[in-house]
Amino acid sequence: MSEKLLGHYIDGQPLADGGQRQPVYNPASGAVSGQVILAEPATVDAAIRSAQAAYPAWRATPALKRARVMFKLKALLEEHADQLCELITDEHGKVLDDALGELQRGIENVEYAAGAPELLKGDYSRNVGPDIDSWSDMQPLGVVAGITPFNFPAMVPMWMWPLAVVCGNCFILKPSERDPSIALRVAELASQAGLPAGVLNVVNGGREVVEQLLDDRRIEAISFVGSTPIAESIYARGSAAGKRVQALGGAKNHAVIMPDADLDNAVSALMGAAYGSCGERCMAISVAVAVGDTTADALVERLTAAMAGLRVGSGRDNSNDMGPLISAVHRDKVASFLQAGVDEGATLVVDGRQVEVPQEGFFLGASLFDRVGAQMSIYREEIFGPVLCVVRVADLAAAMQLVNDHEYGNGTAIFTRDGEAARHFCDNILVGMVGVNVPLPVPVAYHSFGGWKRSLFGDLSAYGPDGVRFYTRRKTVTQRWPSSGVRDGVSYSFPS
Ligand code: NAD
Repeated sequence: MSEKLLGHYIDGQPLADGGQRQPVYNPASGAVSGQVILAEPATVDAAIRSAQAAYPAWRATPALKRARVMFKLKALLEEHADQLCELITDEHGKVLDDALGELQRGIENVEYAAGAPELLKGDYSRNVGPDIDSWSDMQPLGVVAGITPFNFPAMVPMWMWPLAVVCGNCFILKPSERDPSIALRVAELASQAGLPAGVLNVVNGGREVVEQLLDDRRIEAISFVGSTPIAESIYARGSAAGKRVQALGGAKNHAVIMPDADLDNAVSALMGAAYGSCGERCMAISVAVAVGDTTADALVERLTAAMAGLRVGSGRDNSNDMGPLISAVHRDKVASFLQAGVDEGATLVVDGRQVEVPQEGFFLGASLFDRVGAQMSIYREEIFGPVLCVVRVADLAAAMQLVNDHEYGNGTAIFTRDGEAARHFCDNILVGMVGVNVPLPVPVAYHSFGGWKRSLFGDLSAYGPDGVRFYTRRKTVTQRWPSSGVRDGVSYSFPS
């Protein structure tokens, strides 16, 4: 099969510049499927100029008309869903059904953005003083940019740009260079839906492109989603360049299993949350905190049994539960954690390195550790692969202490039948997104998504109401109209 050349999308047109090429892989076969072009500085500059040129007319376009583009885009995304899911699966590796779930969550953000007239209508107060009225208006920022990770190549960009553009901004998207096809295809569909040229531009690239976007004074705001060390440096560098920045980082999500939990429900929830998408989700559960040894023993036994039935293979086959990891390098890194855990003294109950898959590709089976300690690297670090660690604690207080002491605070969950324990957990846990008998508490598009601690740098969460706040600035007008006499009617006398 011939290799695709994956360039950029600027000013409503695909563009291939002379930038360096980098291979894109099909993780299920291990073969190179395309070459992504890492944008040259002049290409990034062209994208910014295109966005700047489009901005005045787009800002002046009524919100209702901007929203209508989103209605059309939603219909096009649904119409082309099969092709879009194949693009996701062939570069990311996740199973097609999972890709469809991702696309659907992206479409929900487009639907939310279609509410622009309502979202932007501001506040009004009459008679704040004698004959004085006041209103607040949400105005766009200008040209804004987004930098996204490989693990949700359709959804995370759609967390950002649909809302940004319905707010009246023009957007530059820098998707992950590891699975760039879907972003380029969605940009084409956005043009087809009626988005004017320059309102959404896509530039491919890596660190150099990101740094150029961060430092360029014409860009007003940056949204970033990726790993914590990069999120932290992006927040610092973008803020220093005078930008508004929100930078969402990595995670280590704990599920607390109480002794009274419905264990069947907890085990099936954990299987999906730990091993779905090969553990490459920022909301994946990577730690199960079992309260009491009896709970832990039963949990490990049932998880081990369930894991025996896990099907690992190409994401093109929906009967598989898990596809490959994103790259050979990443697979080897995840596998190195398995050895580290053993060396640190944890019990490796199921070893994913034993998996047999009938094809080449970046596969690794699901792994389960028991008796993991808080000082171990497999507990402290984000592995971002199909590895679940069981930590044993004596009671809920110890479980919560563990969660609260961890540097990440993206998501967590509690499994229990006790409402009071769940309520205490929700009130006091230092994590941004909490599930009660729900393993992946990803907020819907009309709420907002964001972790605490070192899982988010910046003041506002992504999408939903916080997204509107992030992509707009408030202007408050206070007005009085002293009498001009017009209302008193026509006077025929010479003014004296
Ligand atoms: P990554 O940090 O390697 O890359 C993210 C983006 O940053 C990519 O577009 C990449 O090209 C760019 N980038 C890479 N190195 C850079 C550098 N040195 N300087 C500037 N930019 C750079 O992340 P990834 O491996 O693509 O994605 C996985 C990570 O993303 C995990 O840590 C995961 O938890 C996190 N994530 C977080 C969320 C969230 O909402 N908090 C959502 C999805 C993924």
